[in-house]
Amino acid sequence: MVSNRNKIVVAYFLIVKKVFSRYYIGVNINYIYDCVERLSELIRVDSRQAGAEHGLQPVQIEALHYLSICNRYSDTPMAVAEYLGQTKGTVSQTLKVLENKGLLTKKTDENDKRISHLKLSAKGKRLLNNTIPTTMFVKACAVLPEKKKSEIEASLKLLLNVIVQANKMKTFGVCNSCRHNMNKEGAYYCNLIQEPLSDSDIQLICKEHEK
Ligand code: SF4
Repeated sequence: MVSNRNKIVVAYFLIVKKVFSRYYIGVNINYIYDCVERLSELIRVDSRQAGAEHGLQPVQIEALHYLSICNRYSDTPMAVAEYLGQTKGTVSQTLKVLENKGLLTKKTDENDKRISHLKLSAKGKRLLNNTIPTTMFVKACAVLPEKKKSEIEASLKLLLNVIVQANKMKTFGVCNSCRHNMNKEGAYYCNLIQEPLSDSDIQLICKEHEK
């Protein structure tokens, strides 16, 4: 039979274990969050400075950057809004500024006149090449050994995937990692959109991407 004293000792250890594990998990989550938040702020500040040299806001640089890495199914104002987590109205203002500055061009879809596709102009590509990744980021990466860069890449990918999956968000992943990407007669093929994909297509991100 278990004595009262033993019961008290077991209860004490269970309480200590519970409190300690809550504290321990809390500290780690807070620290990860603090690091990610600080990183985002540093990048945003640097991007603001880089964009200011060209009279652009950080969100305008972000929209340009997205359009430089997305595929032809994802280059619409709606997809830009979804990726940036902004309303269609706000994004439409952003895109208008970029268009007026000659940094992107708008083209109506050949099959559906309600849809327009946005492409970076040569001027937009040049500006982005000189701006992203920002000087601060490039300088920091230059002192990191290759092994460390690979480790950071793997950890950040994992964190990003977990955040997206746990919150049932759109992945906006790279086409070559999508479950709809098939190999048909030796060539890449999108089984969702039912169209062939080129070698360069599969390097781009897509709003329809699924793991
Ligand atoms: S295979 Fe996936 S990521 Fe690639 S175009 Fe199709 S849906 Fe998009």
